[in-house]
Amino acid sequence: MDNDSETMRLILIGGPGAGKGTQAKRIKEVYGIPHISTGQILRDEVAKGSELGNQVKGIMGRGELVADEIILNLIENRLKLPDSKKGFILDGFPRTLEQAEGLEPILKRRGVTSVKVLLLNISDDEILKRLMSRGRADDTEETIANRIQKFHNETQDAIDYYNERADLVRINGEQEIDAVAAEIVQVLGAPGK
Ligand code: AMP
Repeated sequence: MDNDSETMRLILIGGPGAGKGTQAKRIKEVYGIPHISTGQILRDEVAKGSELGNQVKGIMGRGELVADEIILNLIENRLKLPDSKKGFILDGFPRTLEQAEGLEPILKRRGVTSVKVLLLNISDDEILKRLMSRGRADDTEETIANRIQKFHNETQDAIDYYNERADLVRINGEQEIDAVAAEIVQVLGAPGK
């Protein structure tokens, strides 16, 4: 079965530029579990020029959120791949309450009963500073403003959802990358035990 408590299954939530991608890559190395970024999957689809890619390109370019149904479908299919048996890190998902709620039956169908949620906290000022210097295609001032707003309006509901279930751990995302990584390992426990 898939529900042993040893298996590391994580949700990484944080505003744009909070360091989710960076930390997810570290966690992947340390614990040997796949890093599943909905943003990256979507960017790959856009680059391939697939039907899905063409459908979401404009939405992403404006810093808006892709429809929950599309995202939930994408996640369900990704979690069916055998590598996610040994655990996973979800980066950039869930981003809405509907996604958080929609994830429950998906996990249930896979026999997964426990997931840890880490919230990487950073201020809006820090978000702006970081994204302006990152220079990704969707990092324009207007798009960034949109993404910050979506984070406060939509993702906050997903955060509240997990907070109410008391399985949310807050991490100070404004520290140096190594310090954030160390705090995460401290929360998750050393690997290979
Ligand atoms: P990210 O790489 O997580 O910053 O995501 C880049 C863009 O992809 C976002 O601005 C959204 O347009 C879209 N996206 C990624 N993940 C999600 C999600 N879980 N729900 C809705 N849209 C998403």
